[in-house]
Amino acid sequence: MNLLENIPLAPLTTIKIGGPARYFVEAKTIGEVHEAVAFARSRDLHLFILGDGSNLIVADSGWPGLVLKISLQGIDQQTAHDDDGKVLFDAGAGESWDRFVSHAVMAHCAGVECLSGIPGSVGGTPVQNVGAYGQEVSETIASVQVLDLKDGQVRELCREACEFTYRASIFNTTQQGRFIVLRVTYALTPDGKPHISYADLKRHFEGRETSPNLAETREAVRHIRALKGMLIVPGEPDCQSAGSFFKNPVLSETQHADLEKRAAARGLTVPSYPALETRKKVSAAWLVEHSGFTKGFGSERVGISTRHALAIVNRGRATAADVVTLKDQIQQRVQEIWGIQLEPEPVMVGF
Ligand SMILES: Cc1cc2nc3c(=O)[nH]c(=O)nc-3n(C[C@H](O)[C@H](O)[C@H](O)COP(=O)(O)OP(=O)(O)OC[C@H]3O[C@@H](n4cnc5c(N)ncnc54)[C@H](O)[C@@H]3O)c2cc1C
Repeated sequence: MNLLENIPLAPLTTIKIGGPARYFVEAKTIGEVHEAVAFARSRDLHLFILGDGSNLIVADSGWPGLVLKISLQGIDQQTAHDDDGKVLFDAGAGESWDRFVSHAVMAHCAGVECLSGIPGSVGGTPVQNVGAYGQEVSETIASVQVLDLKDGQVRELCREACEFTYRASIFNTTQQGRFIVLRVTYALTPDGKPHISYADLKRHFEGRETSPNLAETREAVRHIRALKGMLIVPGEPDCQSAGSFFKNPVLSETQHADLEKRAAARGLTVPSYPALETRKKVSAAWLVEHSGFTKGFGSERVGISTRHALAIVNRGRATAADVVTLKDQIQQRVQEIWGIQLEPEPVMVGF
């Protein structure tokens, strides 16, 4: 195990913000994960598990304990199909998620093609049940191999045990901080058709006579994401972000009716779509934009992406405090105008 001290965390995040880690270990083997955990225990240090830093806001003061970066690599495609005829792929938690998607698409296996271009590691995907363009990893995760910090055992959690819901699982709710994800097994459909349900994707393929294949769908998703600044392109100012900053609120019928009334009073119609049978998911981007925070809003240090109303971007010299101030401002205004409390999506580290 290579133990480092006072390592700046900003370069290890996509938004490029945050102070140093007092101690830092990059684990490339399960043995190094165990060693790092034992070191943190022996010094009574708080442990933070780092993936690719694409969903984080790290405090300007950094992290006073140990940051353990999980860099377990490897993608294995199992030769036998499971009982449902799916192909199982095992991927190390430290693998790049987009590299995994590319691998699956090249193997003609469907189930994750709409999740192309999402930054981050494989190990980060079960944590907030990553989703986009009509797919979520909860639909394809068969099991998650974890190190249980409660008793030091390596366990295999089945999909049901992860309790996936919209942008949530046991890993970021009830059991937060208990598990380190080591590997994830995805069950994908061999020679399956791409999932094209989202309006943007349908529009992209409009007028085509033949159905798009998995590779074309992956390219389309990456193209649409790039237009929105949601694909990491080095040097592109609009992608120095942590992705969508707020979750889409899921409202009850009563809350939704109240929102519609408020919108009508302003001559607006709320765009919505059914999330669950009796609840409605509302676009957080719409709420943010209609609260005065339009694309490009902000100062020279921090602001809203010029291409996506939900992304808070570091325009070069932003601090974590700048981001938090803007976040608070947006939440307060949305609450005042629409009566809805927006919930941040990125993890706040060291605050
Ligand atoms: C431009 C951009 C676009 C994005 N678009 C989307 C999108 O479309 N849909 C979506 O769902 N998300 C999106 N995101 C958010 C982000 O990409 C995902 O949440 C991603 O899965 C985070 O993975 P990570 O490895 O970067 O995790 P990190 O940011 O490093 O960590 C996030 C959380 O996961 C935990 N964690 C990470 N790895 C492990 C592990 N091995 N074991 C235990 N805990 C771990 C961390 O402790 C932390 O709590 C976007 C982000 C950006 C910057």
